[in-house]
Amino acid sequence: MARNVFISFRYSDGHLLKDELASLFDVNVDTVDYSEDEDRSYMSDTSIRNFLYRKLRRSSVTIMLLTPQAIEYKTKRVFNPQTLRYDTVFDDWIYDEIRYSLEYRDGNATNGLVAVYTPEAKPFLITDQTHCCEVCRQVSTVSNVTARNNLIFRNMMNIKPDYKKHRCMGVFDRDWDSYCSLIPYDDFKDNFGHYIDIAFEKRSELYKYNLCKRLQP
Ligand SMILES: [Zn+2]
Repeated sequence: MARNVFISFRYSDGHLLKDELASLFDVNVDTVDYSEDEDRSYMSDTSIRNFLYRKLRRSSVTIMLLTPQAIEYKTKRVFNPQTLRYDTVFDDWIYDEIRYSLEYRDGNATNGLVAVYTPEAKPFLITDQTHCCEVCRQVSTVSNVTARNNLIFRNMMNIKPDYKKHRCMGVFDRDWDSYCSLIPYDDFKDNFGHYIDIAFEKRSELYKYNLCKRLQP
């Protein structure tokens, strides 16, 4: 099956890994688009949106490459003529790429989303925790995800209660209980087709998830 993906990544510490991810795909069959290191300081919100709609047009799944520098979004201060004060707003390609991926764009349905994190990023994202509970009556190790003001995290563990797959309270199935699954880089590389297929499938079941498409800085 042909796969159409968009790779979102932070240029400063992610561009080599982006090349490695892109090389997994077959140029004759698959379509791979990705972020450009474009100067956006002179672009209006509308031109940024149009630019990204074009970039995203052929894709159905967005892969977010989480390197340490891709966890926090950049912001800027803009003058608000109504309140006569300065507001802080996000000014970051990777924020906009994910936000527009999650939108229903002209003739293009919401993308599936999968986040791939590098070993260097792991300490900022995950701690391992022991799970023991009344429901499953066993002790196991689960990943505890650190809350971040980032669209990836706001779209994790966002399954509506009726559809939750993992039966333990507060424990979420990695593949199905988050609209955006969080996968280690090496696992993803070994089995990328599988993870992309899962993201693709969730895209047709949007009603099961509480999607978050915007954040406040
Ligand atoms: Zn349990």
